[in-house]
Amino acid sequence: MPNDAGAIEPSRILGFSGGSLDRAAAFRHDANWIAARRADPKARLLRLNGDKARIIANQLHFEEAVDAEAVFLGLDVEGNVIFAGEAALPLEDARDLRSLAIEGQLAAQDLATLAQARSLLHWHQRHRFCANCGHETEMKDGGYRRHCPHCTADHFPRTDPVAIIVVRSGDNFLLGRQASWAPGRYSALAGFIEPGETIEEAARREVLEESGIRVGPITYVASQPWPYPSSLMIGLIGEALNQDIVIDKTELEDARWFSRAEVRLMFDERHPQGLGVPPPMAIAHKILETAVTWP
Ligand SMILES: [Zn+2]
Repeated sequence: MPNDAGAIEPSRILGFSGGSLDRAAAFRHDANWIAARRADPKARLLRLNGDKARIIANQLHFEEAVDAEAVFLGLDVEGNVIFAGEAALPLEDARDLRSLAIEGQLAAQDLATLAQARSLLHWHQRHRFCANCGHETEMKDGGYRRHCPHCTADHFPRTDPVAIIVVRSGDNFLLGRQASWAPGRYSALAGFIEPGETIEEAARREVLEESGIRVGPITYVASQPWPYPSSLMIGLIGEALNQDIVIDKTELEDARWFSRAEVRLMFDERHPQGLGVPPPMAIAHKILETAVTWP
C-alpha cells in the first residue's frame, strides 16, 4: 500500500522514490484475480524499451491492450490497473530514465513507476530459465515470482543493496571519483553489500579498501531505488578514525578530503577548480547535504 510518510522522510524526495501504486500483494498471487485485472477496461500498459519509455507532455504514455506477458505494477488512485511490458522495437518519443530523473519534469510517482517497471522487466528478461535445473520457468503472482514446473523451485525478483557513505572527519568530508565519471565530479564512496555482511560492515570495508580510511560510528540517512538495473542505495554518514588516504587506483581515480566551505561551493557550482557533486535527484547529493549541515 502507499505509505503516509509525507515529505519529511529524506528518502521521499529522491529520484525514483515516492511510488503511489497499490501493489496489491495480498491479491496478485491469485491467477484469477490477475487475469480479471488484465481484462479490466481500466487496465493500462506502460511499454518500456530497455530503460526508455514514451513520455508525452511530461506524462507517462499508456496503451490500453494488456498482453499475457505484461507484469502487474499496481492500482493507481483512480482505479486504473497498471501493467508494464517490454517493447520489441525502439519507441517513438522515448526518453531514458536517467535524464528524466535529472530533468525533474515528470511527477515523482511516475518516475517511481518507471523505475519499478524497469527493474522488474529487466529481471524477467534474464531469468527465463531455472537457475536450479535449467528448465524454462513460468511467470506467477503478476510477475513477482517465476516458477519452475520441472523442479518446482520458485525464483523472486532481486534487489541488490549498495552501501553509499559520506565519511567525515571534523569539518572535512571524504569524496572520491571514478575515471569514467564526468570531469570534476566527486561523490560518496559506494559498494555492493556482500553475503554475510551488515550494511555497516560493508560500508566500512568499501571505504577502507578504496581510500585506506577506517570508519567508526555510522548513521543511516536515506535510501533510494536505483533501477540500473535493480539496486537499492542505502545512504550513510560515517565518522573517520584516521585521515591519511591511500587510494585504490583500480577502483578510484582520486579520493580526497573536502572542507565544508569547499563542499558548499561545489553545491553552488562555484568551486574554483570547477569540481562538482551529483545532481539533487541522487542520494549522494542528499547524504552530502545532510553531512555538511550537521553540527
Ligand atoms: Zn527448475
